[in-house]
Formats: sequence, C-alpha cells, structure tokens
Amino acid sequence: MEQPGNLFVVAAPSGAGKSSLVKALRSFDARVYPSVSHTTRAPRGQEKHGREYFFASEQEFDAMVANNAFVEWANVHGKRYGTSKKGIQDRLANGEDVLLEIDYQGALQVRESFPQAVLIFILPPSWEELRSRLENRGEDAPEVIELRMKNAEEEMAQVGEFDFVIINELFESALFDLKAIIHAQRLKIASQRRLRSDVFESLNLS
Ligand code: GDP
Ligand code: ADP
Ligand code: 5GP
Repeated sequence: MEQPGNLFVVAAPSGAGKSSLVKALRSFDARVYPSVSHTTRAPRGQEKHGREYFFASEQEFDAMVANNAFVEWANVHGKRYGTSKKGIQDRLANGEDVLLEIDYQGALQVRESFPQAVLIFILPPSWEELRSRLENRGEDAPEVIELRMKNAEEEMAQVGEFDFVIINELFESALFDLKAIIHAQRLKIASQRRLRSDVFESLNLS
C-alpha cells in the first residue's frame, strides 16, 4: 500500500532503550507520530491507558483480531501486542510520519503490508548492559527479566532483516543516529516533492 507519509518501525529487545529513544526524539520532533499499541499486559506504575498503550482484555483483543483491526499483532513475552489499522492509516494517507515501537515479528509483518516501511533495530552494547538496564529500570519482576533476557537472543538474531541498526551505548549518540535516519527519509525525492512543493514549482520541476 503506497502512502505519502513515512512509516518508521523501531524494534529492539526489551531494555535496549527503545522507549527512551523514541520519547527523546519526540521532544525534538513533533512531526513523527508514535502509534499507540494495544496490549493484553497489565499497565506498569505510571502508564496511562491511551498514552503508552491501550490496555485490552483477552476478549477485547480477540474481537479486534476477528474484526481484522490490526496491521500486525504478535505474542511477546507471553502477552499479545498489536498495532491497529485505525491508528496509522489516516495519518500516513495525510502525509504524516508514523513511528511504531514494536517487536521484530510485528516489524516483519508490517513490511508485508507496507513495503516502504523503514525498519530500525536497536541493539544494546552488551548482554551485561542489557541485564543491568532491565534491573535498574525497576519495572519488571526477576522472572519477567529472565524471560526478557532469554527472548532477547531470538530477537537479536533477526537484526539482519532490518534496514538500519543503532547501537544504544551512549544515549546521545544513539539519539543522533535515530534522528539521522528519519532526516534522511525526509530528504528522499518523493518526500521533498511533497514537503517543498513550493520550491519544486518555482523551479518548474513538478
Ligand atoms: P508532554 O511532553 O508532556 O506533552 O508529553 P510526552 O512527550 O510525554 O507525550 C506526548 C504524547 O506523545 C503522549 O500523549 C503519548 O501518547 C505520546 N508519546 C510520547 N512518548 C511516547 C513513547 O515513548 N511511546 C508512545 N507509544 N507514545 C509516546
Ligand atoms: P525498552 O523500551 O527498549 O524496553 P527503555 O527505554 O525502557 O527500553 O530503557 C531501559 C532502561 O535503560 C531505562 O531505565 C533507560 O533509562 C535505560 N537506558 C536507555 N538507554 C540507555 C543508555 N544509552 N545508557 C544507559 N541507560 C540507558
Ligand atoms: P513492553 O511490555 O516492555 O512495553 O513491550 C514488550 C515488547 O512488545 C517490546 O518488544 C515491544 O516492542 C513489543 N510491542 C509493543 N507494542 C507492540 C505492537 O503493537 N506490536 C507488536 N508486534 N509488538 C509490540
């Protein structure tokens, strides 16, 4: 499905720093809209329905699957997560940039429906650092951290399927890398023709 807006998909093992990077990006760049996923997992401490996620019961999630309401959905760490079509299609059609923070299974499904999607993988600098970030975040029980560490191996093995990889060692330089990828997409001819149609017209290039 060709859409004028750019679709960015960011995947990473839990704890690599995906949400922190996307949040920091948003504070500089309000033009990239983060899609809010549906999930069957319970909210963490500060999470608010409709902000980090739409928290859904198993039955509500089933109904959305049955209604074909998802662009993609996947089982991640024993819970289901999905991106609703409603949340992204209108924005892309309007030429807005949308960013999905989803797992690698979802990222690969999104590419099936949106072949132009830009797939970005975030890696931690080491296993030790990944574990210490999960522990220091203080949001997950020890058994949940073990499961996430175990799943990280399978997730990171998929890095070769992605278009770009960012190593989140120094936060500021990882953020710079993420901004650079987004900026480069916006400089592609098709985007520039749309975003700077005034210049193209004045140069008789349209
Ligand atoms: P503000 O700076 O106080 O206006 O608020 P934020 O920057 O925290 O968030 C603004 C809106 O962007 C929120 O309503 C969220 O829906 C969305 N948002 C910001 N960061 C994230 C993020 O990391 N993930 C997701 N899914 N949404 C985010
Ligand atoms: P994810 O969304 O990928 O699960 P988070 O963004 O929640 O990961 O990051 C996991 C933890 O690691 C958080 O406590 C965050 O503050 C921290 N963190 C993120 N990036 C870095 C970094 N470059 N250096 C040190 N700590 C980081
Ligand atoms: P968390 O529970 O830590 O917020 O997220 C756990 C995992 O689920 C992360 O890998 C995250 O990227 C993934 N995830 C979040 N939303 C979606 C979604 O809509 N679809 C898919 N496939 N994965 C998601």
